[in-house]
Amino acid sequence: MSEKTEVKNKKLKDIFSKDLFKGEVKFMEPMKNHTSLRIGGPADVFVVPQDLPSLMNIKKNLKNRRIPFFPIGGGTNILVKDGGIEGMVISSKFFRRIEIFSKNEAYVNLNVESGTPLQRLVNFSKEQGYSGVEGLTGIPGTVGGAICGNAGAFGYEIKDVLIAVEIIGDKGKTEKVKAEKIDFGYRNSSISSEQLISSAEIRLRRDTRERVSAKTDDFLKIKRERQPLWEPSAGCVFKNPPGTSAGKLIEEAGCKGMRTGDVEVSNIHTNFFINIGNAKASDFITLMETVAQKVEEISGIVLVPEIKIVGRDEVQN
Ligand SMILES: Cc1cc2nc3c(=O)[nH]c(=O)nc-3n(C[C@H](O)[C@H](O)[C@H](O)COP(=O)(O)OP(=O)(O)OC[C@H]3O[C@@H](n4cnc5c(N)ncnc54)[C@H](O)[C@@H]3O)c2cc1C
Repeated sequence: MSEKTEVKNKKLKDIFSKDLFKGEVKFMEPMKNHTSLRIGGPADVFVVPQDLPSLMNIKKNLKNRRIPFFPIGGGTNILVKDGGIEGMVISSKFFRRIEIFSKNEAYVNLNVESGTPLQRLVNFSKEQGYSGVEGLTGIPGTVGGAICGNAGAFGYEIKDVLIAVEIIGDKGKTEKVKAEKIDFGYRNSSISSEQLISSAEIRLRRDTRERVSAKTDDFLKIKRERQPLWEPSAGCVFKNPPGTSAGKLIEEAGCKGMRTGDVEVSNIHTNFFINIGNAKASDFITLMETVAQKVEEISGIVLVPEIKIVGRDEVQN
């Protein structure tokens, strides 16, 4: 490790002293260990805070010291470049509580921590007979990541059940932001990379267990038939252009099975690119560019990425 990197890491290490932090800290942690694609260079620091005070303290210190940070949920919608991530990656893995805080005859209001796996919420709703997230079945990752990208499928989107989010601001204090103050679009939201979601208030409709279960199971069956859920991917690489699907355009452009290094356009769902071995982010990006170019040549349509490409090209010393 170079002298400069050591100095930088020492500056970051300070934040974890004085009993202000409970949780895990790793330096130069390979991000490929934390992404569904199994791709990504090292994060300068990777932290997994165990409680809210630790998270709030980190957030405050990062702003004061002008250290960049990147919140990560399940890492299922990101491509981390080979040079890794500068500053601190903050994982919400330990924040996974679901609590009912009010209900009436029609609705139930839940407080869901940001690191809760989305599928835990879907299964909880299924077991309790709460309706509203059936179409989100099979989507990996966390509730925080789903809100950030307005995850959805089968006509369902997480924004439709969201009442408010709790965000940790620059001063390390929590603030509540109502859902109507957030702009949600197709696989995006106005939540900026400076904002760290700690929890969300979600409202579901009371229904019967049988009905919610049947719908959820039907959607999951379709998803399993259409998508290679068991292979290392980040889901859909490109957004669907209005009126058509990116997968169809990619197939029509003759890109099915196309390969760069260890990245391959899936034969099952052409908008999924799979890491078939030891893929590099640079290969993934090259394949994205090649596929987008072919699609544009054949259809005249410019594909826009759905996955978020983050990080630096080279490790900085
Ligand atoms: C097999 C497969 C199938 C998929 N199917 C679908 C699908 O049907 N529909 C769909 O919409 N998506 C789908 N996806 C994509 C992905 O699973 C979703 O976008 C998911 O909601 C991302 O959640 P995550 O926790 O993994 O987010 P991450 O990938 O960890 O992060 C995504 C973004 O959210 C931000 N973020 C994460 N947590 C927080 C937080 N607590 N506070 C602030 N920002 C945060 C990150 O900084 C990043 O910018 C699929 C992916 C895979 C691998």
